[in-house]
Amino acid sequence: MVIKTAEFVKSSGRWQDCPEPNLPEYAFIGRSNVGKSSLINAMLNHKDLAKTSQTPGKTQLINHFIINESWYLTDLPGYGYARVSKSMRRDFEKIITNYILNRKNLVNLFVLVDARHTPQKIDIEFIEWCGENGVPFSIVFTKSDKLKPNTVITNVEDYKTELLKTWEDLPEIYVTSAEKKLGGDEILKFISTTNQF
Ligand code: GDP
Repeated sequence: MVIKTAEFVKSSGRWQDCPEPNLPEYAFIGRSNVGKSSLINAMLNHKDLAKTSQTPGKTQLINHFIINESWYLTDLPGYGYARVSKSMRRDFEKIITNYILNRKNLVNLFVLVDARHTPQKIDIEFIEWCGENGVPFSIVFTKSDKLKPNTVITNVEDYKTELLKTWEDLPEIYVTSAEKKLGGDEILKFISTTNQF
């Protein structure tokens, strides 16, 4: 897919305030600092459409962008902040889970995980929650340029092994690097094949 236009629409604090669900929507989520903003910017070929390195816990908003005037890209708040109180964390989680469960036009959720780490409890729990709630999702490994290619393969295999402990089938998996501009095209290809824009 060629990105002709990418426009910011609005930031919303609740799913009820999001733009009309009148176009197919694809959302991106992950732990804070996973590289979500960088990947969105690299994929859309924009320098700072999604803000990178926002202060954790400061802006917990659902950001909508409209791409090629035909689909929504949604940048969801990061989950699993270590530096905020438990009740604040619960509020963030509510924003996210309410959005995912209520957003009728959501086609797919891209769950970002850092390629450098072994499967983290919070990510696995979130992925399991998606499965239990019938949320269509894919897994996106980020920052793959920080590792040797063989280590990336090993880490992805470890992740698959962890997932197969509870899942019969594996979701789509993408290996990306915002730094090297890798993997974004595959994600865009998936998006265009799941919809006729
Ligand atoms: P977000 O909080 O998930 O939106 O994460 P950011 O996109 O702000 O990235 C967090 C940090 O990781 C920043 O310092 C980025 O420069 C860095 N980063 C993000 N993606 C990559 C990548 O693909 N490769 C490398 N080497 N660094 C990255």
